Amino acid sequence: MSWERNIRRVVPYTPGEQTNEKVIKINTNECPYPPAPGVEKALKELNYESLRLYPKPAADDLVNAIAKYYGKKSSQVFVGVGSDDVISMAFLAFFNSDKPIFFPDVTYSFYDVWADVYRIPYEKQALDENFRIKPEDYYKENGGIIFPNPNAPTGIYESLDMIEDIVKHNPDSVVIIDEAYIDFGGESALALTDKYENLLVVQTFSKSRAMAGMRIGFAIGSEKLIKYLNDIKYSVNSYTMNTTSLVIGPIAIEDDAYFKETTGKIIKTREWMKKELSALGFTFPDSLSNFIFATHKDYDAEELLKYLRENKILVRHFKGERVKDYLRISVGTDEQASALIEALKKKIK
Ligand SMILES: *Cc1c(COP(=O)(O)O)cnc(C)c1O
Repeated sequence: MSWERNIRRVVPYTPGEQTNEKVIKINTNECPYPPAPGVEKALKELNYESLRLYPKPAADDLVNAIAKYYGKKSSQVFVGVGSDDVISMAFLAFFNSDKPIFFPDVTYSFYDVWADVYRIPYEKQALDENFRIKPEDYYKENGGIIFPNPNAPTGIYESLDMIEDIVKHNPDSVVIIDEAYIDFGGESALALTDKYENLLVVQTFSKSRAMAGMRIGFAIGSEKLIKYLNDIKYSVNSYTMNTTSLVIGPIAIEDDAYFKETTGKIIKTREWMKKELSALGFTFPDSLSNFIFATHKDYDAEELLKYLRENKILVRHFKGERVKDYLRISVGTDEQASALIEALKKKIK
C-alpha cells in the first residue's frame, strides 16, 4: 500500500467503442469515406527502409504543407499525435496559473481529465438551457479558456463574433478553440489568430480528413504560442510524428478537391438525417458538425442505444446528468444513414 500513496491517480477518459465486428459504426465521428486517393498510392510506395531512421523532429514537410494550405507561416503551425496530443501539450504549456481554467459543463469530456492529470484548477461554465455558451461567463478572471466550436457533443456552432468577444475580454489568458468539427459548415477562427497573440486554434485530420487512424492534429497561432508549445514538446518527446504520418499527411491536405467532395457529401447526408429524425419525433440542437445530438421525448436514450446495438448499429451515449437523454449519432454514408432511419422506424411508432 505504501508505494501506491505516491501514484498520480486519475480517472481516465473513456474512448468510444472500436470493434472488428461488422456493424454500422456511427459512434465516434469518423469519416465514412476513405482518405484521399493519393494516400493509398503513397502508402504502397513507402520505402520500408526509411523506417530505420528517426523521423524529422520538426515534422517539417507536414508543418509546411499545413502552413501553405492555411496561408500561415510554418512558425505558426504545431503538429501532434492527433489533436488530443496537441491539446494535452497546450494544457501543459499554457494553463499554468493558480486561477481556474474555464470550459463548458457540456463539452468534450477529455478537458477535465487533462486538467486533473496536470493538476490544473478548473471551473465548468454552465451552457444555457439550449446548450448555448453564455459569453459573459468567460469575462471573469481565469487561468485560461478552452471550448470546441462547433461544441461536442451538441454540434452547435457559435459565431466568430462571439469567439472574438471572448478573446477580447481575456488578454491575460490563452484561449484555445478546438475546431475538430469546423470543416462541416462553420467558419474557422484561424483568421483571428493574426489579430490576437493569445488565441490558439486546434484542428485534426481525424474527422474531415478521414485519417483518425493516422493520428495527426495541429494547432495554429502566433509564433510565440507555437514556440512555447514546441518547447514543451521537445521536453517530453522529440519524435511525436511517425515517418508514415509525415509522408501521407501532406498528401491528404494537398488534395483539396477530394476534401471538399467528402465534407460536402457528409453535410448533405446530415441535412437529410435532420429531416428524417425530426419526422420520427426526435429533437436536437442544429448541428454544424458531422454528428447529431438527438433526444426523443417518448423513448429512453439507453433503450434506443441497446435496440440499435442489437441491430448492429453503433451510436454513442453519455451518462452525464444533462446529456443522458441524448444519443450522439455520427453522420455516415447515405446507406448507413438510411439503415439507421429504417431501424428507428421499426421501433418508434
Ligand atoms: C475527436 C475530437 C478531438 C480529438 O481528435 P484527434 O483524433 O485526437 O485529433 C478533439 N476534440 C474534440 C472536440 C473531438 O471531438
